[in-house]
Amino acid sequence: MTQLDVRPIRAFQDNYIWLIRSPGDPGVATVVDPGDAAPVLQALDSGGLQLGAILITHYHPDHVGGVPDLVAATAAPVHGPRHERMPVPVEAHGGGDRLSLPALGLDFAVLDVPGHTAGHIAYHGHGVVFPGDTLFSGGCGRLFEGTPEQMLASLDALAALPEATRVFPAHEYTLANLRFAQAVEPGNEDLAAYARHAAALRQAGEPTLPSTIGTEKRINPFLRCRVDDVREAAERHAGRSLPTPAAVFAAVRGWKDGFQ
Ligand code: ZN
Ligand code: FE
Repeated sequence: MTQLDVRPIRAFQDNYIWLIRSPGDPGVATVVDPGDAAPVLQALDSGGLQLGAILITHYHPDHVGGVPDLVAATAAPVHGPRHERMPVPVEAHGGGDRLSLPALGLDFAVLDVPGHTAGHIAYHGHGVVFPGDTLFSGGCGRLFEGTPEQMLASLDALAALPEATRVFPAHEYTLANLRFAQAVEPGNEDLAAYARHAAALRQAGEPTLPSTIGTEKRINPFLRCRVDDVREAAERHAGRSLPTPAAVFAAVRGWKDGFQ
């Protein structure tokens, strides 16, 4: 099976709008979380592409800001989370749904991943996942609308995907995340090697993404709340024992929020 062709469109400071070429019709593209229309229209134009669909993971402006202009310019159908306010009418999806777009050759399972926002969803299929602002390489989204228990469950659901699954988060936060991850796990050799690799990519002006679920399970502290080294580091930082994975997760998330 050939790999799904997914490429980044850079937007704002550090957003990626992911552009998927339709398997079987490389002249048609689907975009994920277009926060800005201009770079998408430019990418479509320069690639000679038609816009087949728009996928949205959550309602934040840096993920939906370009949707009205793209719909006006292309009439592409929009797919988004059932429980969030969207800037245009969308085909609404929630966890357990399948998003099937046979004309585009695309078929995704929809996951509910609340925590960053209450109605956040992710799209998984074709060996890739689009987790929006739930999972980043080396990190996770801030908890604006969810509890640590909810976010940990969302991250656990993503971590349960096959290890080879390529992960396409919506932001290039990797290097900052890895500085924090190394403060949590200074002895994690996989993490040290990955940090060197990511730094070299950024040095060359390349995205660090996609990552994979397998890589994230080895290097991302937020997917490692059940690992003794992570729990013990979180307990030292919190100054108390942390009896559950959710307590460890909450402590690591709070530690990162204050980390420079
Ligand atoms: Zn967001
Ligand atoms: Fe965002």
